[in-house]
Amino acid sequence: MRVEGARLQGPGIRFCPSPNQGQAYAPGELDTLILHYTACPDAEAAIRTLADPAREVSAHLVVARDGQITQMVPFDRVGWHAGVSRWGDRQGLNRYALGIEIDNPGQLTFADGQYRSWFGQVYPAADVVWAVHRNQTTPTPWPRYPAVQVAVVAALCRLLVTTFALRHVLGHEEIAPDRKIDPGPAFPLDSLRGWLFESPLADRTWRGPGPWRVHRAPDTQAPVQVIEAPEPALLTVLEERGDWCRVRAAVEGWVRADQLDLPGPLAAAAPPSPAGGPATPKGSV
Ligand SMILES: [Zn+2]
Repeated sequence: MRVEGARLQGPGIRFCPSPNQGQAYAPGELDTLILHYTACPDAEAAIRTLADPAREVSAHLVVARDGQITQMVPFDRVGWHAGVSRWGDRQGLNRYALGIEIDNPGQLTFADGQYRSWFGQVYPAADVVWAVHRNQTTPTPWPRYPAVQVAVVAALCRLLVTTFALRHVLGHEEIAPDRKIDPGPAFPLDSLRGWLFESPLADRTWRGPGPWRVHRAPDTQAPVQVIEAPEPALLTVLEERGDWCRVRAAVEGWVRADQLDLPGPLAAAAPPSPAGGPATPKGSV
């Protein structure tokens, strides 16, 4: 699986274009990936919705429960999945973010011994996990994400983070917490972020003589603070991006990787495994 231009390429990957898309991303603004669940009976129903011009919603990718991937918006065009949203000092995340829709019916209700989705489908207890949503306070039932589906989403996240130098992988529930609960606690979002951004690098404290030129951005023209190294173990590598490493030392910033002479590529880490009535406003799924 690879990205060629604005398209995902690989065995079995489908392309079903959606008319629901905006302009190209402004240069340098794409740096985020938003994860959603579809809240639909199956992936095909979600794809029909995301291709319906009357609904005015879309996402770049849909991942079915069996791991089948469908691309609906090219990676160089804004998709309509985040809606009214905020992260940090930004609002309206669509213009900064790619979107992945994960086929999952969403939060269930439990009554008369049965687990039901908002559209009335009944699910066996073996397919349900009780968990407390990060935006809620009491345990509720959620349909499990199959391991193969989580593995495909994790691989997609890693590919997109690497290809487009993304800095954030967020749930819709985190950028619109007053109205959204997807992808929900059955999806291992926190461990996925750890796998993508932190855990492979957690012990990467670099010991060396310095001095290092620490840039505010991964750009040789960005402002620099020169750090002398009175002691070893001065720099912790937080993230690698191309020829650059984001480091934490006396300051946090970016150094050229060739200044650090890092000991080889990162060890492959195992991807995370899955954790044990949604209205759809315009431009948001
Ligand atoms: Zn969503």
